[in-house]
Amino acid sequence: MALPVRRRHVVRTIAAATIALLAAVTVPPGPAPATPPPPSSTPLARPAQRVILFDFDGFDPRFVSGRYAGVAELPNLRALIEEGSYGVARGSFSSYSNSSRATTATGTYPITHRNTGYYYSRDTDRGVSQERYLEPGVETIAQSLRRQDRTAAYLQWYVVQNYGAAFGDPAALYTQPGGDCQTRADQAIALLHGEPVDSGGTMVDPARIPDLITVYCDDVDAVLHSDGFSAAGLPAALARVDAQIGRVRDAAREAGILDETAFVVTADHGARDWTIPLLPEVVDRLAGTGLTVEVISSSGGAPDPASEIVIVAAPRTADITLRGRADTPAQARNIARIIRSVPGIAAVYDERDLRRMKASDKLGDLVVEPIEPYHLSTLTDGKPRGSHGGLAEAYVPLVLSGAGIRAGVPLHDVGLVDVAATIGALLGVHPPSTSRGQAVRQAIERP
Ligand SMILES: [Zn+2]
Repeated sequence: MALPVRRRHVVRTIAAATIALLAAVTVPPGPAPATPPPPSSTPLARPAQRVILFDFDGFDPRFVSGRYAGVAELPNLRALIEEGSYGVARGSFSSYSNSSRATTATGTYPITHRNTGYYYSRDTDRGVSQERYLEPGVETIAQSLRRQDRTAAYLQWYVVQNYGAAFGDPAALYTQPGGDCQTRADQAIALLHGEPVDSGGTMVDPARIPDLITVYCDDVDAVLHSDGFSAAGLPAALARVDAQIGRVRDAAREAGILDETAFVVTADHGARDWTIPLLPEVVDRLAGTGLTVEVISSSGGAPDPASEIVIVAAPRTADITLRGRADTPAQARNIARIIRSVPGIAAVYDERDLRRMKASDKLGDLVVEPIEPYHLSTLTDGKPRGSHGGLAEAYVPLVLSGAGIRAGVPLHDVGLVDVAATIGALLGVHPPSTSRGQAVRQAIERP
């Protein structure tokens, strides 16, 4: 179809122009995309010998302080915070796991890495839930560390699989132990003890303890999705992920490397409860325009070619693509105004808003976000559940602690986009070549 292709080209041109503008105006000059720094460049200081990153899916910052701080004690996380630095970091929009984790792994925003969640793909004419896509030329921390001769193991940290890490690769090991957080921490402990670990069915011995170990756990996210913040299983899930910090730290102590190891704890996004459906009201009001409205499934749903307003509905966002008669700036403004007038709608983001948020250009013309506990899912059973995707839950805890980290520094104005550069600074290497993030220097000791 000629029209969507042409539009997509225009959008991408605008996105590229925006990146160029940001680079020119707000981002300090860095290495050109995909150009490795010269090998002769001065070696960087190395405040820590190694870094262990815990990436806890759905770990809302309000479990640390605020509304949900009493759900679980989190003694191990709090000990790291006590000895290190803590702040609430910005995630990225939209706050779906793969897209947010791509921000962490690349130090770029979705407008650059283009991993996108819950949208209608004009390319495939299908609804998409999540994807493993990363824009060619955008470097991950796994590719960056490998290029700079540093070793790493990524335990279920799927975002770098085949983007710098692979099954069976001892220098950039990807593993998929499955199970819960304890099973994943078991592998970190094995690596710290110098033991081989299962990587895609093969036992791999990295020969020495990797410079970076990342541990991905989704225990908390899974409980929140099924039952929300009132879930009976939530305290246990929080306690379980917290306990793994303690177990891995103990293993580092036993291995004699605790005082040269930095710990980073973060998440991809927070969460919000959802119970009250808004989608039927939104669809009703849009049908009043006389345009044809269709809700398609995020798992591969294909719209009728005649549909003019195509909605990919998810609890915390609805992605709206305008086609045919609906595809004009005046209609976009009118449709946004109609949706904003529905009680329970928090925001309708248009193309300008999405560019300002550095969101992916693969999202639709409008993205709608409800106020908690309203939702835009097709489910109408009213059961309490949790989810994410909106701007409200695009905030995460960021803990830096251990070797090379100053104690008691409140982290302000930090984001997931800064994590890769911060790990690089701790290890004394350059950030990923395309990274737009900044190392959290205020928390890093000068060696
Ligand atoms: Zn989730």
